[in-house]
Amino acid sequence: MNMKSGAAANQLPHYPPDVATRLRPGDPQPRRDGVKDDIKNLTLDELTAWLAARGEKPFRARQVFQWLYQHRAREFDEMTSVAKSLRNLLHEHFHVGFLQRKAALHSTDGSIKYMFGLADGREVETVLMPGPEHITLCVSTQVGCAMGCVFCMTARMGLVRNLSAGEIVQQVVEAYTDVEPGRFIRNIVFMGMGEPLHNYENVVKAIDTLCEDHGFGISARRITVSTSGLVPAIKRFIRDGVRANLAVSLNAVRDDLRTELMPVNRRWNVAALLDACRELPSESRIRLTFEYVLLKGVNDGPADARRLVKLLHGIKCKVNLIPYNPPPGLSFERPSPENVRRFQEILLGKGLLATVRISRGLDIQGACGQLITAQTPDAQH
Ligand code: SF4
Repeated sequence: MNMKSGAAANQLPHYPPDVATRLRPGDPQPRRDGVKDDIKNLTLDELTAWLAARGEKPFRARQVFQWLYQHRAREFDEMTSVAKSLRNLLHEHFHVGFLQRKAALHSTDGSIKYMFGLADGREVETVLMPGPEHITLCVSTQVGCAMGCVFCMTARMGLVRNLSAGEIVQQVVEAYTDVEPGRFIRNIVFMGMGEPLHNYENVVKAIDTLCEDHGFGISARRITVSTSGLVPAIKRFIRDGVRANLAVSLNAVRDDLRTELMPVNRRWNVAALLDACRELPSESRIRLTFEYVLLKGVNDGPADARRLVKLLHGIKCKVNLIPYNPPPGLSFERPSPENVRRFQEILLGKGLLATVRISRGLDIQGACGQLITAQTPDAQH
């Protein structure tokens, strides 16, 4: 779930040649290895079951996982503590998937926006945001997006395809190249390209690997999945007890405006969306956030803030206000700091927990709403 807009993708000034990139020309191309599956598409339970069916003990799966995600092995032969016969067996059936780092833009605030190449020649973007205490990674879940939010760059691409679970976790593996030894990626936000809940199964599998102690060992409390409001998928997410927090992108308090901004509202309106959110049991460990992109003169008035308070009454949640980051080519504007403050004060004054997001990577178009890649012409629109 991301927010993007703009002119045709190939006209956008992404990755200009004068910006320092950290290409690794020696990197091999990601490959499509015949019918062999990417082993990173498997959760630990799935790999354990696969190995058990071939007479291997569960600890072997844990070993392989550690090689994949902690040592970030690119070949089975690097897994020196795994018996040669097992490495051969794995090699027969799987390949180790990885992404090609095509470009990396470095922001003055320390963020890095990557363009990763996929095995089929498509591309996705991922943003690494190092902080003094924690490192956050914003991952993509689809190439493009079908949701059509009008303020969003990715929407202009249409949906090209879902990412596999392996392609989602590979973004974390690749981003680790720029993480200093001894530091770890602690927060994962599914807020890059795509609507994560539109790729439900693969996102849930990826979360499993992210949280797995023998995988990345990231706490579920530090993983957030953002959605534009796919009501059946939200209900399923809650019902399945997925180990991650949920961020619902609301952005408007009236159906007419929300439908204008986010066509998904035609299918599931504000009332249906909030009803689905009310299904989250109060004792749930899932933390619910409503994201509200503030667009100057569109949804940033005091009446909008007061209506938002009323709508969220009785829902245990936090509101994250996001002053819009205008990408080139879009007519929406960023609200003034005074309007943002006033909006936040109205929420706080009524007892709502409301924060204002400090955008990272603005100078590299890595902030919310700014991710887009040029795709091949057969992309759907
Ligand atoms: S749901 Fe899709 S179109 Fe809407 S903001 Fe997210 S990435 Fe963009």
